[in-house]
Amino acid sequence: MKYIDEFRDGALAQKIAARIAQEVDPQRDYRFMEFCGGHTHAIARYGIADLLPAHVRMVHGPGCPVCVLPIGRIDLAIQLALAQGAMVCSYGDTLRVPASDGLSLVKAKARGGDIRMVYSAADALGLARQNPQRQVVFFAIGFETTTPPTALVIRDAERAGLENFSVLCCHVLTPPAITHILESPEARDIGVVPIDGFVGPAHVSIVIGTEPYAPFAKAYDKPVVIAGFEPLDVMQAVLMLVRQVNTGRAEVENEFTRAVSRQGNTNAIALMAEIFEPRSSFEWRGLGEVPVSALKIRPRYAKFDAEQRFGLHYKPVADNKACECGAILRGVKQPTDCKIFGTVCTPENPVGSCMVSSEGACAAHYAYGRFKDIAIVADSV
Ligand code: SF4
Repeated sequence: MKYIDEFRDGALAQKIAARIAQEVDPQRDYRFMEFCGGHTHAIARYGIADLLPAHVRMVHGPGCPVCVLPIGRIDLAIQLALAQGAMVCSYGDTLRVPASDGLSLVKAKARGGDIRMVYSAADALGLARQNPQRQVVFFAIGFETTTPPTALVIRDAERAGLENFSVLCCHVLTPPAITHILESPEARDIGVVPIDGFVGPAHVSIVIGTEPYAPFAKAYDKPVVIAGFEPLDVMQAVLMLVRQVNTGRAEVENEFTRAVSRQGNTNAIALMAEIFEPRSSFEWRGLGEVPVSALKIRPRYAKFDAEQRFGLHYKPVADNKACECGAILRGVKQPTDCKIFGTVCTPENPVGSCMVSSEGACAAHYAYGRFKDIAIVADSV
């Protein structure tokens, strides 16, 4: 298949791996954070870490949209369904994320909540049109990739004069999260892994372009290479990062030129700016409160804002004490560092958010057996 098969060529991957091994400085370590869950998934699925020299380490970042959703936000969606009688619609993975009191949206559905899985924001708008007697809320999550479709349905609902549709907006922004990983006060508590460069997101960058990363690369002296989600994309990005580190550069480079431009999708960016404005602060699971890192609906479209329509008030809720998602989302720990990984916590019974989506670091490690050596050691003790 064009644009897929040629980016999964094993012989080429070996060649790039050999080039990386040739070019790395054996006297130093290289630590590169893949921000995005799509890259985490690719690294686990294709065994990319095994192709890299021992002193080139990939560090998982917080770019899995389901993983960073804090418990308190899911509680709000459950409250809408169970206490306020709204029909709540969201993407499939969101429904399985653990919330307070042993609930999740799926479990709330079993208690009688009208909770629907949808494939798109447009599906949620369609349900509102088909059910004019019901209040329909789209629980909108994700990075800049899923934000434009949410903006579009809000604009469409306004143009159609729909009175029974609103959005619980939990869209988050990528560049502030990357910055926060390096400089937040919380980093002093959990610690930070020294990071030499970032593999930048693929789909997010199709929307926002490469420009928003430039101030970050300059201010923090960290190279960024935007990469696609296929294994050769990731390998090539690592080689480009190694070369930047070796030559003392900290630039934004674009490996994913077949889809990402410097300016991004200007129509999508304009639409997002019309419908949304930045929140002063937003809680991320694992990162805590991150300033100017999320979006809310502009006053002009306030009637479509579920927080205002239903008078919702956000309350932060602490994660399960056994769960290490916070440290994993910062790259400080690996999934296998969690004592309940693969035993109490599995994709069928996720205790933390990183085990829910295939983009979550714990789910990716579980699905592709990156824990088997540990399990064997544990069994033999
Ligand atoms: S294995 Fe489960 S409980 Fe442990 S860090 Fe991952 S998601 Fe959290």
